[in-house]
Amino acid sequence: LTQKDEYCILILGLDNAGKTTYLEAAKTKFTKNYRGMNPNKITTTVGLNIGQIDIQGVRLSFWDLGGQQELQSLWDKYYSESHAIIYVIDSNDRERMPESKEVFDKMICNDYLSGVPLLVLANKQDLPDCMSAREIKPVFQEAGHLIGRRDCLIMPVSALTGEGVDEGIKWLVESIK
Ligand code: GDP
Repeated sequence: LTQKDEYCILILGLDNAGKTTYLEAAKTKFTKNYRGMNPNKITTTVGLNIGQIDIQGVRLSFWDLGGQQELQSLWDKYYSESHAIIYVIDSNDRERMPESKEVFDKMICNDYLSGVPLLVLANKQDLPDCMSAREIKPVFQEAGHLIGRRDCLIMPVSALTGEGVDEGIKWLVESIK
């Protein structure tokens, strides 16, 4: 039996951004015979969801942390253990975009995360009035000096329909390995 390389990936973002739905979609895509939770039954994360995907000879362990304000203070306990970050944005929630940006900036300033690959997901692209990834990009890249030289990709996705989910995971694997 060969020991697989295991990498820890944190899934962060405001509550209701779609973190749990994304993790379910990823598990569904990359796990044989996986029957995920019904997306309509997923409720916002309080505490922690964990999921694993084996891909290209490595194991990815995902930690989906709760996004409510009270829970955000727990995120940095996990930073030192993480090999990559997925930051999920609700592209349909223009009102909370500044809040999401603020939380994002605070996160990427953390020393433990310097150099860690960062996948930013403009989620809920299936909704007709959502902001496009193109609109969201400049908002989040304004923090370019904070992002620094780490690998960073901002991509459109719909965790609900699964559109764009594989591309993101594949990019992560390549960046981590
Ligand atoms: P979390 O709090 O970040 O874990 O968010 P959830 O995964 O619980 O999702 C919050 C709500 O957004 C749920 O009602 C989901 O069904 C919905 N949602 C998540 N992703 C998408 C998406 O890509 N499109 C749409 N339309 N709804 C989504």
